[in-house]
Amino acid sequence: MEEIRGWLLLARYSEIALKGKSSRRRMEGLLVKAIKDALKSHGFYDKKVEVREARIWVHGFESEEEALEAGKRVARVMGVVSVSPVKGFLHSGLNDIVELGRKFFSGRVKGKTFAVRARRVGEHDFTSKDVEVRLGEALLEEGASRVDLENPEYTAYVEVRWGEVYFYDKIIRGPGGLPIGSEGRVLALFSGGIDSPVAAWLMLKRGCMVDYVFFNIGGEPHVKKMLPVAKVLADYWSYGYYPKLYIVDIRPITLLLSEKTPEHLRTIILRRIMKRIASIIAEKTGAKALVTGESLGQVASQTLQNIVVIDQASPTTVLRPLIGFDKQEIVELARIIGTYEYSIRLEEYCALNVRKPTTRANIREVLEAEKQLGELDNVIKIITDNAEIVNLRRLDMKVREPEPKIIGLQHIVLGENRR
Ligand code: ATP
Ligand code: MG
Repeated sequence: MEEIRGWLLLARYSEIALKGKSSRRRMEGLLVKAIKDALKSHGFYDKKVEVREARIWVHGFESEEEALEAGKRVARVMGVVSVSPVKGFLHSGLNDIVELGRKFFSGRVKGKTFAVRARRVGEHDFTSKDVEVRLGEALLEEGASRVDLENPEYTAYVEVRWGEVYFYDKIIRGPGGLPIGSEGRVLALFSGGIDSPVAAWLMLKRGCMVDYVFFNIGGEPHVKKMLPVAKVLADYWSYGYYPKLYIVDIRPITLLLSEKTPEHLRTIILRRIMKRIASIIAEKTGAKALVTGESLGQVASQTLQNIVVIDQASPTTVLRPLIGFDKQEIVELARIIGTYEYSIRLEEYCALNVRKPTTRANIREVLEAEKQLGELDNVIKIITDNAEIVNLRRLDMKVREPEPKIIGLQHIVLGENRR
């Protein structure tokens, strides 16, 4: 039977499929746009991307290797649950599917314990179970060692869609979530440390366009170490839009605080000023909310009491996606995202000479101390107006690409078989 257009990518998405018709169509549009961006950004041109029957199909690959390489990138598009390089054929019924499958899988399954997993969309005079049993028998004839449905060494996947059949054996896990742009714009307070990049990533995953503000405390070396962290998010997780980074030199403020503020209040007042500045930038960029990497009780400044006092610095909504995460959970995510190895190169920059910051800030005491910073509003205005703006994806800097999780390759078996 005829082979249809060689190797393809099959990308699956989940939550979008639960939406009403019009928002679903909009989200599928965003997903297609992001997938095209991911393909082009990594040198895969002239690929056709289409939505059919709640799946996304990418056509036009020369080989399985090319499809796999592209698939690794498509699997980083927010909203994508998983991706498989598949080979498609037209079929004329069960016998035909079994013979095509025999040819496709025989070399791959030899000597291994295996399972056939079939799915079917459309009307046929056979069931997916029939496909599994008949193809299973054929593969045993081809030298597969035995059927093992619990824990097979090799899984042969079959998708039958009306008159078409697709074969594959690899599933690359995606982040899931919603396509970027389906929610609004947010501004992440981005230190480049371990936490705030993970917080920003979680907002990208929920469909937000994330811009970033970085408060420079340690001068040029501080910026240099933060940039690669932002670059990982921009180059590898932000397909579909061009994030901006605002770099605010906050040293005039730290200087002011060191001179005029009681030691135990400096950290919390600096955080409040950061929130005020971020609110001003958010207003300008149209960001509806701020994002921080705070996790309840992680450090002195993140007690519940202090978070409340910091929050009162401005009325802008703050989203804290990590609030209930343990440090270890955040680190695990940072490793998968690919920011961890760059984040740990940042030292803790502290220009405030604080030995014992308060864990229970008192709002009246804080407001009183802020009053003593006479020219504060003026300084805030000047440093905010002077923020440097970086178009992160256009920034000429190479950072390491995150490793994908591929299910079905013997040497990287991770997670459950999700599709
Ligand atoms: P992170 O790992 O994100 O640096 P942290 O555990 O060091 O966080 P804090 O220093 O208390 O915690 O910072 C809390 C949050 O405030 C950060 O997650 C980040 O959102 C924001 N923040 C802290 N420092 C900066 C900075 N220099 N620039 C921008 N945002 C910052
Ligand atoms: Mg930090």
